[in-house]
Amino acid sequence: MKLAIPENIETLIPYPPGKPLEELEREYGISGSIKLASNENALGPSPKALAAIAEALPKLHRYPDGSCYYLANRLAERLGVDPGELVFGNGSNEIIELLVSTFLSPGEEVITSHPTFLVYQKMVQAQGGVNRVVPLKDLRHDLDGIAALVTEKTRLIFLDNPNNPTGTVFTAEEFAAFLAKVPETVIVVLDEAYLDFVDPDRRIDARAFLQHATPVVALRTFSKAYGIAGLRVGYGLMRKEIAGYLHRLRQPFNVNSLAQVAALACLDDEEHYGKTMAMTRDGMAWLHREIARLGCRPLGSQANFFLVDVGVKGKLLYEKLLRRGVIVRPMDAYGFPDHIRITVGLPEENQRLVKALAEALPELRG
Ligand SMILES: *Cc1c(COP(=O)(O)O)cnc(C)c1O
Repeated sequence: MKLAIPENIETLIPYPPGKPLEELEREYGISGSIKLASNENALGPSPKALAAIAEALPKLHRYPDGSCYYLANRLAERLGVDPGELVFGNGSNEIIELLVSTFLSPGEEVITSHPTFLVYQKMVQAQGGVNRVVPLKDLRHDLDGIAALVTEKTRLIFLDNPNNPTGTVFTAEEFAAFLAKVPETVIVVLDEAYLDFVDPDRRIDARAFLQHATPVVALRTFSKAYGIAGLRVGYGLMRKEIAGYLHRLRQPFNVNSLAQVAALACLDDEEHYGKTMAMTRDGMAWLHREIARLGCRPLGSQANFFLVDVGVKGKLLYEKLLRRGVIVRPMDAYGFPDHIRITVGLPEENQRLVKALAEALPELRG
């Protein structure tokens, strides 16, 4: 075999392939381990979603509804937008990919922060685009720094708000001031994967910016607060013209039928949603208190996860926790070697994490 691999593909780094939980347990000789690493909903999926899936199973021989008709209409009604302003994807990850492949030509530029969600830069590189990267300032997006980096070649700006991994947010006023500096030729993507967890008075209402001269696309997902990450469904909220271009490119059946009925059912399960919010709020407060008591520094967060400055090598601590059946995210790949990222879990999971930390930390502090 003699393939000419494009340079931009050759230098891509695959997503860390992480072994299945079951394999890890076998290797480490443990069982009943808990995963607090991927910002999922520890409560599990909504029972209403499970019931909707069971009902849809006999129709699995049929292709899904390529327009996500019922989901689009229900969600549009709920958000007070036009269904034509919504584009659904196989996770909001697919919308990120679609935005990049639709609006970016090789050699053109995209601005992101560092650290941020790793998918943006990967898609840009895959498309032969140029990543311009602005370091976070005091753990927050440096909106002035980003605006200053815009050139004629800039096509997209990705801002996750809250930012992953820091959990920080910017305000609507800061966002408006930022947009005023960005030309109309650039699409500003506001990734709101964790919007549900943000204090209500600190949320940005993306709908208020949809008609801004500088186009804004908001991304949302059913993977986090709604607890169906395994089904892969997310969406973008954008003006119709932009949606129209994404529809030209997207695969006709990009959202599977079980994901569609489950997402629809989730929207109506206020009980599960309320429990999720309470679990996250209470768990966050409890974990912050307990972890500070262990001599670490937990950082404030508007999401369902938070960073902890552990004062030792995060990667080593991660391994020690793993041996105790607790999986967190080391942050060296994000440029925070002394931090770990923790997703808020069930109360008993949080307790187990704190116990494992109390055992592991002294071993590393020596
Ligand atoms: C988890 C996450 C997403 C969600 O991706 P899906 O493809 O919808 O599961 C998007 N953006 C950020 C910043 C995330 O952390």
